[in-house]
This record gives sequence, C-alpha cells and structure tokens, in this order.
Amino acid sequence: MKVIVDRAEWKRERKVVLSLPQTTWPHLRFFAETIGPRPVGSAPYYRAADYIRREFHEAGLRIEELQYECVDWQHGSTLLECSGEPLTAVANAFSPACNVTAPTVGLCTLAELETADLKGKIALFYGDLSATPLIPLNCNVYNAERDQRINRLLAEKQPTALIAINLNVPAVDSIIEDADLEIASATAPAEVGLHLLAHVGESVHLKIDARRTPARATTIVGRKDGPSPARVSLMAHFDTKVSTPGATDNGGGVATLLTLVDLLSREAFPFGLEFIAFGDEEYYAYSDGLYVENYGDEMKEILAAINMDGVGQRLGTNTITLMTASEQFRQLLDGILVAYPGVTWTDPWPQSNHATFAWRGVPSIALSSKGVANVHHQPWDESKWLDEGKLSEVLGLIVDIIGKLRDKSASWTRGS
Ligand SMILES: [Zn+2]
Repeated sequence: MKVIVDRAEWKRERKVVLSLPQTTWPHLRFFAETIGPRPVGSAPYYRAADYIRREFHEAGLRIEELQYECVDWQHGSTLLECSGEPLTAVANAFSPACNVTAPTVGLCTLAELETADLKGKIALFYGDLSATPLIPLNCNVYNAERDQRINRLLAEKQPTALIAINLNVPAVDSIIEDADLEIASATAPAEVGLHLLAHVGESVHLKIDARRTPARATTIVGRKDGPSPARVSLMAHFDTKVSTPGATDNGGGVATLLTLVDLLSREAFPFGLEFIAFGDEEYYAYSDGLYVENYGDEMKEILAAINMDGVGQRLGTNTITLMTASEQFRQLLDGILVAYPGVTWTDPWPQSNHATFAWRGVPSIALSSKGVANVHHQPWDESKWLDEGKLSEVLGLIVDIIGKLRDKSASWTRGS
C-alpha cells in the first residue's frame, strides 16, 4: 500500500514548525561556540549537561539520569622527536603521561603484531593496524574480535609507548582512545608516518604531559508520560571527542533534540515521549548498556527510536535510515519523505545510539547527513558547516513522523 501525503495537512504542520521561535540555532551556538569541546567528564561537559537538564526541566519533563565513573583527561603538550628533529604528533585521548626514548618497531598487520617483540620498544602502527580507530578493550557496545585481539596483545607485549599513524590526510585525530589502556600513546599524521618509517628501528623521544582524574559520565533522560506505556524515544548525544567543538557531531543533533522538547512537550499524544541526551557516545557508550539495564523491559513499548547524529550539514544532504521495522512503517516514511525531497535514504549504519534500540527489536530511525568529509571529530567541526534550513528540515520530518504515529502501535511498527 502506498501512503498518500496530504499536502495541505503537511503545510499546516510545517507552518507550525516554521513559525516557532528559532531556538535551534542558539542551542547549537551554545554547544559549538560558547562551550566548544565537551569530552566526557570535563568542566564544559558538565556545563552542557546543566544546560540540557534545565531545558528538560523547563519543559516539565520527568528527569532521570544514568551515571557512571569515567575519566576526565587533561592534556598539556605532546613532544615527538626523531634524531633531535621535532615531529607533529598528538597524544591519544586518555593516554597516560610519559617521557620515553626507545627504538621503533613498524607494525602494519595483526599478524606482525602477534610475532613482534616489543619489550623496550615503541610500537609504530600503520597500515591495517591504524586504518580504523581501535575500539577500547572495555567498550561493551560495538566490539570487534580484531580490536580485542590488538588490545590483548598490547597488554601482553607492553611496548614502552605506541605511535599510531592517521592515514587520513590531513587529519590527526586519535586512532586510540582508551582510558583503560596503560600504555602511553600518540597519533601522528601520515607525513610523519613516512618519516618515522624511513627511520624505523632508530630511537625516538615521546613526551606526553597529561593527567587523568576521576569524573562522572551522565546521560539525561527526560520523559513526558502518555496515557499508555507506549512511547516514542528521541535521542542525540551531546559529548564530543577531546579537541573538537563538535558542531556537526553532534551540536546540530542535540540542538534539534532540545527544539523538539520545546515543540512537543506541551502537545497531547496518545503515547509518551522520551528524550535522551546521551553523554558518552564518543567515549565508551556504556550509557547504552545502562539504559538497557534500567529500561530494557519497557523497550517493547517503544513505537520508534529516532536518533539524530550528524544532521544538517550546509553542503550536505540529510539522510535517513530505518532499522528493524515493518514494511508498512517503511512505506509510511516513504510517504512522509515525498514532502522532504532534500532528504535521502541511506543504508543502515550501527555506529551510534540507535543501534542499541535496533538490536533489541525497536524500530529505529537514524538521521544524519552526508557532506564534507573529514569534519567529524576534527578541530574544524564548527557551526559554519551547519545550516538552519537543513536543521529545520530534520525537525519538520521528525514532527511529521511522530504525527503519523498517533494511530499506530508498537506491533504495527514492528510488523508483529
Ligand atoms: Zn556523533
């Protein structure tokens, strides 16, 4: 069955969205410009959490928080020298401090790491070993056998330190971010990788001035109860990697979430609404596990989980994907999307909070955008890359989806 969109109804609903005070942009500017980098456990992170808590509170939501102990990582400086020549490198987030001089061992593959003797050496990861970020040993959300193996080998072989080469030019963001890894480590850009490999086996000097202090990670859940246990869950993460203002990842998402709080919390729905500001998506994403632990039994009541991560890029296209849902739900979205020609379908992707819901049978929508490459997690992820119109496109789309779910049930969206 093809769903026909009522254009007049859409225009009416859309007018409501467009005539609302433009709060999305001020929210975005607060996160990306006033606060800037807000890695888990840092002072700006707590400021961001306070801001979200206040918005939830003012909208009359019932607030619950999922918290756990984490590490606040403070970094002073990183020095890398090869034969007295200074080279660019950045300490990996959460790396312990160090001041070491040792010969390097170049390692390109897992097989090479298996047989390497790293005692008293600095491991130099390139090729396959630094092609993708290494998932922390204790991350219980996305885990890969390969990454676990690398982590175990590092713990066993105890290199003096580790330097990973970032293969993306010109990015220098961390390949490793692991608060439980006791080996000091840094990431160097590809050009430096060429130099280090040309001098492999020679001594290099790595000095990292950094500090780890105990802190708390928090995920803020704001609830508007409905007449039935059924609910729609809306989410975005508000934390960032350590050295990025995180405008596209994920200032735009959390700003849109807060606008939705404002828009929807006073309206009556036949179901409840749950707004989740995840606080550790860029860290271990333990909160996903905590959410399941605390609310797992109620997840069967969720009609749809809608995650916003990376939405609204000015030079990009907003994208939508749907996971674990009925064919009729997909057709409903197809019908709604007729009014949003700027939004395109993309393949399901699991790398954010919606995956936790999709993997537990909840029909899950992820909104993001495809645009300029190499913005996420970089120091240049600023608000200029986002567009107010593109953010309100996402806003309007979500309002429309929630509107169309009014007469639907969790079994309808699941097709069971
Ligand atoms: Zn993100």
